[in-house]
Amino acid sequence: MTPRHVIIIGSGPAGLTAAIYAARANLAPLVIEGEPSSTSDQPGGQLMLTTEVENYPGFPAGIMGPELMVNFREQALRFGAEFLTAKATAIDFSERPFKVLVRDHLYESDSIIVSTGAQSLMLGLVAEQHLLGHGLSTCATCDGFFFRGQEIAVVGGGDSAIEEASFLTKFASKVTLVHRRDQLRASKIMQDRALHNPKIEMRWNATVTELHGTEKLTGATLRDVNTGEESLLPVTGLFVAIGHRPNTDLFKGILDMDENGYLITRPNSTYTNIDGVFACGDVQDHTYRQAITAAGSGCMAAIDVERWLEAAPTVGER
Ligand code: NAP
Repeated sequence: MTPRHVIIIGSGPAGLTAAIYAARANLAPLVIEGEPSSTSDQPGGQLMLTTEVENYPGFPAGIMGPELMVNFREQALRFGAEFLTAKATAIDFSERPFKVLVRDHLYESDSIIVSTGAQSLMLGLVAEQHLLGHGLSTCATCDGFFFRGQEIAVVGGGDSAIEEASFLTKFASKVTLVHRRDQLRASKIMQDRALHNPKIEMRWNATVTELHGTEKLTGATLRDVNTGEESLLPVTGLFVAIGHRPNTDLFKGILDMDENGYLITRPNSTYTNIDGVFACGDVQDHTYRQAITAAGSGCMAAIDVERWLEAAPTVGER
């Protein structure tokens, strides 16, 4: 079988934007979009787990996250992108054409775009699933605006938690920062920022053991890790900021990663350490993590692929 021009692994804003651009460049991309049952590989990525998205340009009245991703997908389909609703289980990038195993079938491609995204670490509480997007959030930049004048909480003690808590004080009347130890992990300067902010109250040595509310979050049960004593924290918003994990297990030992597992791309490009393999979106970005920045880097990846295919000596003639 003739290898594809490009296979795109992952179908969040980055992968689908890459698919739109690659399809319009006549590269007939194959998108391996993931599996609906999975939390890390669901088609559409993290926006499938959100409700209203108010900061994606072009939608002045806002749009639901899943609807936005359906629109992205339809746009890619319209230009001829093909989709496989399954996840890649193995890859071989040791020589070209590159190989990607999906179920029992081996797909070959001259180039690859990796856009497998990242996932927010969660607390592991049962109610998280139905309250996500209904008071429970993993992104202050995205959802802070919905909590104007309300009392909310942030869980975590690292830089992300402090950054989110500080940002949220612009909207909330009070932010309780819940941390499981009596010392923050965050850098000193960030700590000072939180500890001196009159709107932030610290709850040291506490974990969240239960979330309350059926349709919307109404509060959380906190347990003191030293005494075991439980108390109710009545909040309408709770932001989980205990870290993220890039979905890069498949590429370990093959693609260069930083110490946290994020793929490393060459500055101002989407090139990875393997010629012909490109990466875009949250899988290579732990700084911005926005749908719009992911989409932008997906566009970059498709343009990089197009130019690389034109210049690549072994594939140019096909
Ligand atoms: P992080 O540094 O790994 O911190 C995660 C925090 O969540 C820790 O305080 C940890 O507690 C807590 N935690 C982990 N699992 C938990 C659980 N199950 N229940 C309750 N608490 C839990 O992650 P991050 O804050 O996302 O930062 C990731 C990296 O990005 C770091 O290198 C950070 O410096 C960087 N970053 C930098 C900035 C900035 O400079 N502006 C902003 C954001 C992130 P323990 O402390 O007890 O382990």
